[in-house]
Amino acid sequence: MKMIGILGGMSWESSTTYYRTINQAVKQRLGGLASARLILYSYNFDDIESRQRSGAWEELTEIMISGAKSLQAAGADCVIIATNTMHKMADNVAAAIDIPFLHIVDGTAEAIKNANMSRVGLLGTRFTMEEEFYPGRFRNKHGIDIVIPEESDRQLIHDVIFGELCAGKIEMLSREQVLRIINDLAAHGAEGVILGCTEIGLLVKPEDVSVPLFDTTIIHANMAVDWALK
Ligand code: GLU
Repeated sequence: MKMIGILGGMSWESSTTYYRTINQAVKQRLGGLASARLILYSYNFDDIESRQRSGAWEELTEIMISGAKSLQAAGADCVIIATNTMHKMADNVAAAIDIPFLHIVDGTAEAIKNANMSRVGLLGTRFTMEEEFYPGRFRNKHGIDIVIPEESDRQLIHDVIFGELCAGKIEMLSREQVLRIINDLAAHGAEGVILGCTEIGLLVKPEDVSVPLFDTTIIHANMAVDWALK
C-alpha cells in the first residue's frame, strides 16, 4: 500500500471526513485490521482563509507548495489537497513535486461520466463556482457542462461554508436553503449536483434530494485509496 499525502485543515471539519473515509475504504478493501498509510499536513485555517479573503493568492501558492514538498520529503507517494478552493493553484503544486498529484476535479468528472451525465450543477465557495480553474477543468478537460446558482444564492452558500460549516455549525435553515438551491439547479437542467466544497456533505446528504449528488470529499478520498492500493 502506498503512502497518501494530504494537505488538510481547510477546514479540519472536512479533513476528519477524509481521514475516516480513507480508512474505512482501506478496511473494506483489505479486511481485518487494515488501515491507511497516510501523512496529514494540517494548516491553521485562519492563515489560509484570511489570505483567500484579501486575495493573497501568490502567498497561498507558496504555502501550498511548501506543504506539498514537506509531504514528499516525509515519504508520501502522492499528494491530495483536501479542499476544492485550493485547487486554484493545483497546477503549480503538481509542477513543484516529483510524486503524483491527484486532482479533485478529475476524480469527480470520472464519477459524473460513469453516471452518464454531461451537465451538472455546482455548489462551492464563490472562488470555486465563479473562477475558471474549477468549472473550466470540467468543461475543457472532461466535456462536462457546469451550471451554477444565481448571484444571491452563490453568496448564501459561500457565507454558509465560511460562517457555519468551517466553524462546525450545522444549521437547519441553511440546510433547507441549500436543498432549495439544489432543486433550482435541477429545474435549470442539471442532471446531478457537485458538492464542490469539502464541508457541504456535512450539511446535505444524497437521501435529502431526488437529484444525484457528487460529494467531492468522498470521491476524492476514494480516488486516493484506489491509487494507493493499485
Ligand atoms: N473546504 C472548502 C472547499 O472545498 C472551503 C475551504 C477553503 O476555502 O479552502 O472549497
